[in-house]
Amino acid sequence: MVRGKLPQVVIIGRPNVGKSTLFNRLVGQRLALVDDQPGVTRDRRFGSAGLLGLEFEAVDTAGWEDDEPESLPGRMRAQTEVSLKGADAALFVIDARVGLTPLDEEIGRWLRGQAVPVIVVANKCESTAGDAGIMEAYSLGMGDPVPMSAEHGEGVADLFEALLPLIGDKQPDDAPPVVELDEPDPTAPLHLAIVGRPNAGKSTLINRLLQEDRLLTGPEAGITRDSIAVDWEWTTPEGETRQIKLVDTAGMRKKAKVNDKLERLSVADARRAVDYAEVVVLLLDATRGLEVQDLKIANMVIEEGRALMIAINKWDVAEDPSSLFNGVRTALDEGLAQLKGVPLLAVSAMTGKGLDQMLSAAFRVREDWSRRVPTSALNRWFDDALSANPPPAPGGKRIKLRYITQVGTRPPRFVVFGTRLSDLPTSYERYLVNGIRRDLGFGAVPVRLTLKSTK
Ligand code: GDP
Ligand code: GDP
Repeated sequence: MVRGKLPQVVIIGRPNVGKSTLFNRLVGQRLALVDDQPGVTRDRRFGSAGLLGLEFEAVDTAGWEDDEPESLPGRMRAQTEVSLKGADAALFVIDARVGLTPLDEEIGRWLRGQAVPVIVVANKCESTAGDAGIMEAYSLGMGDPVPMSAEHGEGVADLFEALLPLIGDKQPDDAPPVVELDEPDPTAPLHLAIVGRPNAGKSTLINRLLQEDRLLTGPEAGITRDSIAVDWEWTTPEGETRQIKLVDTAGMRKKAKVNDKLERLSVADARRAVDYAEVVVLLLDATRGLEVQDLKIANMVIEEGRALMIAINKWDVAEDPSSLFNGVRTALDEGLAQLKGVPLLAVSAMTGKGLDQMLSAAFRVREDWSRRVPTSALNRWFDDALSANPPPAPGGKRIKLRYITQVGTRPPRFVVFGTRLSDLPTSYERYLVNGIRRDLGFGAVPVRLTLKSTK
């Protein structure tokens, strides 16, 4: 397979710290691609490596140890220099159980004089025996060491996080996307779609928001043009201006005859509006409550990975408003798992009630939808979640969940690594997803979770 050029990551360290073990883990099943390069030196191994989707060429400098174990002879230094030429990052491996040795310190001093960015890997940290070594590793003055166990595959997500800023933007063109590196800009125009059944009040709402008659409204459905998008500036109650791009599909009204086939069509129309949106407001009609068609649209919005909010419109004519609101809230929380906690508001397109709150909430929801949790915090949460409710042991064999990492945003996407994952019940996945949404600030935005088996 012809690949684009891979960024290069060199593994450096004194003998016996676990460089080869780390190399083998990173290269994994791709070991077949290892090139011994006998013409260059017998001291280096090259392998195409992957780490949670991040691709690079790993260079193992094992083999240098046939020199004097506790010295850094000139030949070794020369070799290292060659390895580092053109490298994008160096992994400086120490044995955290042993702590820093004089040779580690010498290598560290020397590395600081090199141009390449260095990540200190505190290896053999699978038990608390490595704790002291991690503290010592800070004294190298080369940033936060990454605690790992190359042998047991622990800390891989942290290594990923450390490498990402160094080589994330150097992925070959043909590599699949790793993570979205763009930081969301909270002041960027909000792409907002208003969806809902015919007659829920979408056009009235949009007109009210824009305060001009850009759309035709009327009691009878089906009088407007195709979908539109309007750029518009909303002035918040605090007097700030926010950019909003409002998306609406006229087709939702056009095809509005209440029969089964056409109801399905209106879901398809909502989908087109949802395509353009970051946040979607599903408008309910207070005179009708929550109906099956609404749930279908809500479900579709979640499936498409958009941030959903629900607004009960026509609040001005709602009978028994509080029991209506509570009834809808309960139906949402007890119905589809994904709808639990979805923001629910009461509005009136006619009077304008609740519309500022709705838009403020839409901006907040977009922030949740764009949120990224650092791997360390995520794994602290993960450990707690696992001990509070350990994964089951079907047939007496425990399913092992090792670590979790967030691989994307908008919507938030996570990968959990472990073994025997095909036996993990979906109820347990749901437990994790609900916990992520509840505990890590994702509110009610849809969260994607993928399981990946490690060996
Ligand atoms: P290198 O000389 O730096 O390439 O080190 P190796 O990869 O050959 O590993 C040296 C020794 O350390 C071997 O016995 C490995 O099994 C062991 N080792 C490597 N990584 C770990 C680890 O994460 N934990 C523990 N306990 N031992 C490890
Ligand atoms: P659409 O098909 O979803 O675009 O719905 P329309 O905007 O055309 O509204 C359908 C009907 O509901 C019209 O008669 C509107 O005047 C009425 N309507 C919309 N919003 C409200 C509201 O907040 N209160 C009341 N009382 N009527 C509303």
